[in-house]
Amino acid sequence: MYCPECFQNTLKVKSNGVIKLAFNGKSKASSIFTYNLQKETQDQLIAKLRDKIAEFFSFYSEFQNKSPIKNFEAFSSDFVCTNACKIDYVNTKVSMIGVIFTKDEIKTVLNEQAQKHGLEIEVYLNH
Ligand SMILES: [Zn+2]
Repeated sequence: MYCPECFQNTLKVKSNGVIKLAFNGKSKASSIFTYNLQKETQDQLIAKLRDKIAEFFSFYSEFQNKSPIKNFEAFSSDFVCTNACKIDYVNTKVSMIGVIFTKDEIKTVLNEQAQKHGLEIEVYLNH
């Protein structure tokens, strides 16, 4: 991945950190979870992702005027540049899609949970 400071392909994900989720740009305060790539299996990480998506969908399904979920983000600030750049962690968020979770894993969980909660979903994961 490209570093936002030196623009080299030197940005690496940290072995543990925090992932935030956003749906149509919205999140619950609890739409956040930790990951530890050394201790957790991919199945455990997907289970956490599923729980957080289910939690948001359950909340969102109560809304009167729901627009379809068109935008989904899973992002983090837990990256380091191997050139030792000082990264502005307040303003830098990098997508975890394709890094920790594949697009297929994300799509599978989103579709499964949308169906379960009766929500319309039209997410295209182009990033
Ligand atoms: Zn850098």
